Amino acid sequence: MLEDNGIYKLKRYFALALDPIHVGTGGYRIGRVDNTIVREPATGVPKIPGTTIEGCCRSYAYLKSKEDGRNINTYCAKGKPKSETEQPCGSCEICITFGYARKDKSMQALALFSDARILFFPVATMIGPVWITCPMVLKDAGVKLNNDENKLEKLEGGFLKANDLTLPMDDDKKVYLNFGWLLLKGKDENINPMQWKYKENREYKSLSDIIPKDILNKIIIVPDELFSTIVNSNLEVRTSIAIDPETGTVEERALFTYEAIPRGTVFWFDVIYQNPKNFQLNEWNTELIIKTVEDGLKLFEFLGVGGMGSRGFGRLKVIGEFLPFDKYLEALEKRLEILRKKHKNDKIQAICNYLKNIKSEYTNWIEKIEEIINKFCR
Ligand SMILES: [Zn+2]
Repeated sequence: MLEDNGIYKLKRYFALALDPIHVGTGGYRIGRVDNTIVREPATGVPKIPGTTIEGCCRSYAYLKSKEDGRNINTYCAKGKPKSETEQPCGSCEICITFGYARKDKSMQALALFSDARILFFPVATMIGPVWITCPMVLKDAGVKLNNDENKLEKLEGGFLKANDLTLPMDDDKKVYLNFGWLLLKGKDENINPMQWKYKENREYKSLSDIIPKDILNKIIIVPDELFSTIVNSNLEVRTSIAIDPETGTVEERALFTYEAIPRGTVFWFDVIYQNPKNFQLNEWNTELIIKTVEDGLKLFEFLGVGGMGSRGFGRLKVIGEFLPFDKYLEALEKRLEILRKKHKNDKIQAICNYLKNIKSEYTNWIEKIEEIINKFCR
């Protein structure tokens, strides 16, 4: 069933850093380097701003639309007019999903992106990599710990470890573990992150369906007050040089250092999808907006976020329960029915061209696609 009612739909996504992630304080896709990365003001923990995710997502969704043979103009990718004649169209999926400003009219985005915040952060230790988190981070992310909930009281400035990790124990029966320069002692108390759940809308879902088991089995919970310190002292810091693009030689005083969130970090973020029907966009529905956003998110894995992509930075694999393709086709068919009632033949024709173009790519759905084509296209 498609959800045509309601004010909005919230979808929770997770993301795994395949490269170090550098989002400079200067904004998204800064060409050159800025030393520091964006942080949460209250805790000092690095994050990826929602505006960065939105900006990349819009560009990539646009690229995907182009690839699918949709006739979308370049200014729709930016959403802003460049001159009197060079303007976003204000009626394609990119403009409707991400908002636009034209001379004659403008509209806010239907998809609203939260910041991507760190959920699990990888740290090299004497027993190999572990992923740290803390009670506050878990609570903010709405993670339900089940049987592990009451164990949080036993943290007592130490740590709790996933049951797969074996640690050295000292004479007073405490286990210990180093996080960089910091040595922590904890009770020999196990947690089982494979049982944890996350919440999406009103539903609880298994984290282990989404997050790799290799990570969940190596979780360590540290106290809130230590989380930021451990994260900030385990960021990637590298030194690099700037090359003068004209001469190809090293620029003078071009040595710089930069920091980045390391490969293996797990983030979470939400996208709120507002119902187009509440914006007098009656031919649209929420699923079409979700599909546009998710087309963009799927490309983060290849095209990356943030700066310094050319230095092997920024690839981020977004994971979540993506909209199934049949649900999308169902939503598209609904749109076509409304367009037909309104005699908007040019729009119908554009969708028909798109469907004919992608048909061969979706072999599992070819019958359904052909059925729609036969029903709506001449
Ligand atoms: Zn447009």
